[in-house]
Amino acid sequence: MHDENCIFCKIVQGLIPSSKIYEDGSSLAFLDIAPFTKGHTIVIPKEHYMNMLDFPEKEMTAYFSAVKNVTIKIKEKLGADGINIMQNNFKAAGQVVNHLHFHVIPRWENDRAFPIRVKKLNLTKEELSEILLKINAP
Ligand code: 5GP
Ligand code: ZN
Repeated sequence: MHDENCIFCKIVQGLIPSSKIYEDGSSLAFLDIAPFTKGHTIVIPKEHYMNMLDFPEKEMTAYFSAVKNVTIKIKEKLGADGINIMQNNFKAAGQVVNHLHFHVIPRWENDRAFPIRVKKLNLTKEELSEILLKINAP
């Protein structure tokens, strides 16, 4: 199923151009139009799902092997020192395109593209317990 208002569905259908680097029966990968680093790639299922929460489990194996194949290809062909794999769900977490996608981002030592280490919270034992109780509540 495609969503007629979705930019990634349009890419799948060939209605708008993309720089494809990988394709199989159910997944597609293309270069990000506004990359964090040279080789930053978007991997999508060809079907339209908004994000991880509505992605059917039966599709996961095929999709995750596409993500892995792309990761290997980018690491080897571009000689990356490392790879970040990122995935955003909902606006509050930075999702802009509402079609499930993973970002595969090649990194090089000292590329300074974006910081890996971000400011961490320093929570008390009580605060950790409160969170644990909420998450594990029936
Ligand atoms: P999000 O913030 O939703 O996780 O990431 C969406 C990504 O899609 C962004 O990094 C953005 O640059 C990329 N993007 C948005 N529109 C297009 C497009 O038309 N073509 C390509 N190749 N990438 C796009
Ligand atoms: Zn879509």
